Amino acid sequence: MGVSMITRQIKNFVLTEAGMDKVGIASIDRFNQSPKGMHPTDYLPGCKSVISFCIRVPDGAVNAIYRTFEDKIYDVHGIYGAYGYVGGPNYHLLWGNYKISQYVERLTGCTAAPQTAGPTHGAKMLSMRHMAFAAGLGEFGWHSIMMTPEFGPRNRFGAVLTTAELEPDPLYNGPKLCDPSKCRVCEKMCPSGAIPPYNAEQARTICTGGKEISYSGINWNKCKLMCHGVYQEYNDSGSDLVPREITDPLTDDLDPMNAYFRKHPMNNFPQHVPTWKCGNCLAYCPVGNWKQRFYDTGLSSVDTSQFIEDTEWLRRIDEYTGRATAIHSDAPEEEEKKDKDLTERGA
Ligand code: SF4
Ligand code: SF4
Repeated sequence: MGVSMITRQIKNFVLTEAGMDKVGIASIDRFNQSPKGMHPTDYLPGCKSVISFCIRVPDGAVNAIYRTFEDKIYDVHGIYGAYGYVGGPNYHLLWGNYKISQYVERLTGCTAAPQTAGPTHGAKMLSMRHMAFAAGLGEFGWHSIMMTPEFGPRNRFGAVLTTAELEPDPLYNGPKLCDPSKCRVCEKMCPSGAIPPYNAEQARTICTGGKEISYSGINWNKCKLMCHGVYQEYNDSGSDLVPREITDPLTDDLDPMNAYFRKHPMNNFPQHVPTWKCGNCLAYCPVGNWKQRFYDTGLSSVDTSQFIEDTEWLRRIDEYTGRATAIHSDAPEEEEKKDKDLTERGA
């Protein structure tokens, strides 16, 4: 079987049997500028291709963030944690990774190494976001979250490394997904000030596959502080996780918290911080038909358009994704249309 046919079969498997929403392939040369320790061959010697895929976060799970912050129904925030973050999506990716690697090894006879998704201590070294970018699934937003044109930042990513040579996809080449010089939604909706205002000079820039992309140097300590603070505010059982006096989300004095984390290193990893306790940057970003999905439907009542200077770039993205979002309709489809849908999602 030729490389093209093998690639297509694998991608079909990812989208159907493994139940993912999007898939893309990156060739190993796209990682030439990866820092030491973060290159796919640092983990899998002889790696030739990276299969990157994502599962979208259900709108109903994102809804829990709106109910928490807009209606103060704090008890429901765990629904986002369970079905939008550490629970459902990560376990779906975990099993997806397992099935996909088994399938690739059986089909090609090459090694396929699954990567972990979510909070698996000591087993996460490569960046899912950067692999997804390299595989053409989307671009980074100013909030530093990887975005797809269809769902904005509301996706979770997984990846399988393989020594099989597969046909790479082009990098994402649709309309630019984020223009932080025109949109300040994530900065304004971040309750802790962790996302800085757009400033071209302070942006972080990466170059992958010859394409440069910038995103903010987010202050993770402020984000952690916010999330621990919210955790305590909303859930008394979490009150002894971090002492209350150092978790004021609005403080600029991070020294006490940094000192605490140095003493308690288990809490010093992003995956051990309950970041699902906030998630506003993911919930309110306008990319991915936000207005149609959440504002027009009444799920959110926050008029984020006040933070957007010019919506022309959003209109172009919505126009570009109009077709793609229709893929998730439940209407019965003929075989021919199903095949066309799979092609549009990356197969
Ligand atoms: S909220 Fe606006 S500025 Fe922030 S990532 Fe999304 S599109 Fe970019
Ligand atoms: S999760 Fe919340 S605190 Fe952290 S960066 Fe996003 S909006 Fe800010």
